[in-house]
Amino acid sequence: MTEMKDYDVPGAPPYNFPTWCPGCGNFGIWRALKMALATLDIPPHKVAIVCGIGCSGNFGYWVKTYVLHSLHGRSIPGAQGIKLANDALPVIVHAGDGDTYGEGLGHLLHAARRNIDITILVHDNEIYGLTTGQPSPTTKKGFKAKVTPQGTIESPINPLTLALSAGATFVGRAFPLDVEHLSDVMAKAIAHKGLSIVDILQPCVTFNNTWKYWKERVYKLEETNHDSSNYEKALEKANEFDSRVPIGVIYQVDMPRFDQTYSKLHKGPLVFEPIDAIDVGALFDNQV
Ligand code: SF4
Repeated sequence: MTEMKDYDVPGAPPYNFPTWCPGCGNFGIWRALKMALATLDIPPHKVAIVCGIGCSGNFGYWVKTYVLHSLHGRSIPGAQGIKLANDALPVIVHAGDGDTYGEGLGHLLHAARRNIDITILVHDNEIYGLTTGQPSPTTKKGFKAKVTPQGTIESPINPLTLALSAGATFVGRAFPLDVEHLSDVMAKAIAHKGLSIVDILQPCVTFNNTWKYWKERVYKLEETNHDSSNYEKALEKANEFDSRVPIGVIYQVDMPRFDQTYSKLHKGPLVFEPIDAIDVGALFDNQV
């Protein structure tokens, strides 16, 4: 039986404990992920995490499992590559809002329309934290940062309506103040077969402290009669992002996945295929 402590990195601080600012929402996400993996009984050698760049990108240093610390905005392509090589492995992306919804937005939309079986957990603090507080694609209009002293001019994107319209088959939102609820949403996203995304409202205490703001607004979808299989209702809930903000599973349906329809994967994970009998010479025969 897998336990949370199986995911602890051995050693002593500062090598095995995050260097995030005290009070950062990333701590709740860190604990919730370990809890979710233990609940699903996935041992550390049977999961891969792909991180982006930023405060959330350092996540992988403090979870004892396989980790790829990728380039900014490119965590989703890395995750898709791992999934195609070994589709028996759960693959989880940890990246921030700037990473996923800025540089990586195209990758998110194309992964969603493929319905490839990866889980994307977005640490959405509505700011670029590691680079000291520049507006990101989800920063609220009018937010005053050092580089926007008169207020951010652009309107924020709504990542979940984008993901829904692109074809994501699991869409959720969560808040790290309630770690058990966040962990439950994460576990459902990881267990889902298809593209899953959870937008996590992660307070950045140093540059955008939203603990109070979200605490006053969030409510749990489980405590309502929300039908998460209804696409129109899901769009409504994804758009509810003002005085009240729903958290939980917004949308979940079963649809054909990329790995089901890509014939090369029908025989099982590519990593288990023998490579000694593969002759790539023919590929070069007609080269000029
Ligand atoms: Fe967390 Fe913000 Fe500090 Fe980064 S800068 S560790 S996001 S509180």
